[in-house]
Amino acid sequence: MAQPDVLISECGPRDGLQIIREVMPTKDKLAWIGAMHAAGVSEIEVCSFVPPKLMPQMADAAEVVAGSLKLQGLTVLALVPNLRGAEAAIAAGAHKLTIPVSATEEHSLANVRRTRADMVEEVGHIVRMRNERAPHVPVEANVSVAFGCTIAGAVDEDEVIRLAVTLARAGADFTGLSDTTGMGNPAQTRRLFTRLIAEIGERCGAAHMHNTRGLGLANNLAAYEAGVRAFDSSLAGLGGCPHAPGASGNVATEDLVFMFEAMGVDTGIDVARLVAARDVLAAALPEVPLYGMLAPAGLPLGYAPARLQRG
Ligand code: ZN
Repeated sequence: MAQPDVLISECGPRDGLQIIREVMPTKDKLAWIGAMHAAGVSEIEVCSFVPPKLMPQMADAAEVVAGSLKLQGLTVLALVPNLRGAEAAIAAGAHKLTIPVSATEEHSLANVRRTRADMVEEVGHIVRMRNERAPHVPVEANVSVAFGCTIAGAVDEDEVIRLAVTLARAGADFTGLSDTTGMGNPAQTRRLFTRLIAEIGERCGAAHMHNTRGLGLANNLAAYEAGVRAFDSSLAGLGGCPHAPGASGNVATEDLVFMFEAMGVDTGIDVARLVAARDVLAAALPEVPLYGMLAPAGLPLGYAPARLQRG
């Protein structure tokens, strides 16, 4: 079968679970990951390797990686904030690592208690360790709060690009941009990714656009039109803040897949099976609201996925 046109990287088990209070049992995480894989999702960010004291939701990271490795053809992606986490992720057998690096000094200090310069250095350490122990494992660095910061406000675009290029020079195989706070707009998204691709070309990583203000899909489309071909999203838009009802997390994967497929852009994912995977999630987290527009509305009459449109 031909390669899909875009890579949809599901980040719910990491991005979604880290901000809800419930700790999902390992077997439920694996059932959810398995249901998404069965729908054709080829890359899933299954966990983060952080100290369990800081994030008890991720205490079973190594087990979740081990269980996910049994799913054929799945790229098992893990978030690592530092060298120690990267060593643990590689020891567990993760196929790919992603490292968040804040665009602003304020967010960096609040989030990881380190400066941006320290984080760039850490990326270099992680790449060197990877080269020795697991040269086949790609390392992605992602500039978080690249479109706006909850502490510093507006973020200088030159600074975002400078940091992204510095991360690529430090050895990151891919460098993407994250709208961690859902503050970005499509014009800004188009500008930033156009500049990033002009600087680093095929090493441009994923667009990671939160849907906090409803612009997630529009921003993803702008990124696609700028040339981005990898997108992070979360089934049922899992995420949001338990203290801010209605504030959603990432753009819902099923909505993003529907948009691309309807446009004739092949994702490799069966959207109806992906919608069905929401039931597995709902059963495991009955208290957590599920977002997304496609699931309640259903697929439109006459819908044809990209592969069928090509005949
Ligand atoms: Zn995120």
